[in-house]
Amino acid sequence: MRLLTQIKRSAVSLLLAVGLVVPAFSMPAYAVAPNLVSNGDFETAASGGPQPANWFQDSWGTNTPAFSYLSEGHGGTHAIRTTITNYQDGDAKWLFNAVTITPTQTYTYSDWYRADTTTNLWARVEMQNGSVQYQWLKSFATATTWTQASANFTAPAGSARVSIFHVINNNGQLDIDDVNLTQQMTCTPPAVNGLANGDFEQACSDSPTTPAGWQSQTYGPDPVTYSYSTDAHSGSRAASMTTSSENDEAGWTTTIQSPASNQRYALSFWQKGSTYLYTYLTFNLADGTSKDLSLMSAPATLGAWSQYKDAFVTPAGTESIKVVIATSGLGNVTLDDVALLTLTNQTPADFTAGMVSITFDDGLASTYTKGTSVLAQYGFKATYYVNAGSLGSTGFMTATQLKSLAAAGHEIGSHLYHHSDMVQLDTATIMNELDGNKATLQQTLGTGYSINSFASPYGSYTSGDIDTVMQYQASHRTTDGEMNTKANLDPRQIHARLVTSSTTLAEVKAWIAEAKAAHAWLVLVYHGIAPAGSTDPAGELGFSVTPTQFKNQMSALKASGISVQTTTAALAALASQL
Ligand SMILES: [Zn+2]
Repeated sequence: MRLLTQIKRSAVSLLLAVGLVVPAFSMPAYAVAPNLVSNGDFETAASGGPQPANWFQDSWGTNTPAFSYLSEGHGGTHAIRTTITNYQDGDAKWLFNAVTITPTQTYTYSDWYRADTTTNLWARVEMQNGSVQYQWLKSFATATTWTQASANFTAPAGSARVSIFHVINNNGQLDIDDVNLTQQMTCTPPAVNGLANGDFEQACSDSPTTPAGWQSQTYGPDPVTYSYSTDAHSGSRAASMTTSSENDEAGWTTTIQSPASNQRYALSFWQKGSTYLYTYLTFNLADGTSKDLSLMSAPATLGAWSQYKDAFVTPAGTESIKVVIATSGLGNVTLDDVALLTLTNQTPADFTAGMVSITFDDGLASTYTKGTSVLAQYGFKATYYVNAGSLGSTGFMTATQLKSLAAAGHEIGSHLYHHSDMVQLDTATIMNELDGNKATLQQTLGTGYSINSFASPYGSYTSGDIDTVMQYQASHRTTDGEMNTKANLDPRQIHARLVTSSTTLAEVKAWIAEAKAAHAWLVLVYHGIAPAGSTDPAGELGFSVTPTQFKNQMSALKASGISVQTTTAALAALASQL
């Protein structure tokens, strides 16, 4: 059995790994507004002639125009061409049937074009009183390859319909494809609970089936259904997503504009569903860069509404925050009442004092034979994360040794029974491993002994794995190398630092000093305590410390005067300060 612990494999890195399949362009805001131009891609031919349906040829002035329906294009297999020779004045163009518009609303026109001369974009506006107005919109340079042209058009008061046309008014040739005219989203949802449409109650009139200010976001090919649900936590609307297979991401996202920098906020929402959720933020910074932050994940609620809340601090220069609330699990989740709460700024020194926990992974015999007396000498109580499948095997603690540790006031926590990598296991197997490990430890320690703490083997887990773990345990310890502060304390992901044979006494002293100064909780992770070069399976070359190292480190810990607690005791002490 391999017992080497991998360093720093966290849910954050897995989320970023998911990012590898993120397409370069994500979905635009809301559902896409409909293209008002019928047959804008020219793929449909009119019946009875080689001409695109819904399009008409038009010209005026002194010139010789020619029109053709091309069997190639920017997209698909068709486009249109207008050619002018013998030009003196006037223009020539293809026109689409005028579409209905709403006065004062703004529309965006775009097409893809190739032209060997300068071309122009015009709007022909039919007014409610029957008159016609022309508006020049923009001119475009020559383009030898397909190039996108776009311009905005605001419908004048009293207008009824518009046709927008890209004209050629010179000797030359103009090809056009993929014409699009859409109404701009003018609906600005009101801020509710500190962010746009946080209660999902507002829909824009032009997109009534989507909550205003929110967009769906899918990464990966799996089928996902988003719905603007009426099964609400409060009010009458909520947002939900349903995935029909695992692993790809489905979520709702919104962007918080102009938050304060260096400010502590809480993000909260109500959710219910049959699979887990995670939340992550992207801070867009003034210098054009961005920073990602994973917040806590949340387990399936099995149909009950449950409130989620996690705190974060905005980096300096934050201009906006993209919030993504998503799942990569199989099932349905509904969100409601998302809130951004401004919290009183706190420094990491906000816990009343620093604290240290000493933890041992893997239930190695050497930690008992070479560690117990040192801990006793300094009066320290440690937490042992034991993989019960190894109890009694060569190099591992016996049941009797484990019992004596528990009797001495040390905490016995859980590792996985077979010390497996959770990321490689399905949920049912993880549940068996957790259940079996807990049951076996309780056979030794008594059914009344409560196993509260868990550490993931190899520090390897996904957010979904933590959900599974938290069905059995009250906390999950990582090996992510960080310290726990009031800003980041999370029983689901207790930050911890590996101590190995290469960790110097000076480093350990510096960590303790840092925890003391910052009022942070430092969790130390040990494996074996074995002489250098030991071939004992418990030796775990590289991860064990020598008996001398361990003694010196414990001595430094004692000398620092910092409080030393088991994982469960430390969490209880810190939770009361939140
Ligand atoms: Zn381990």
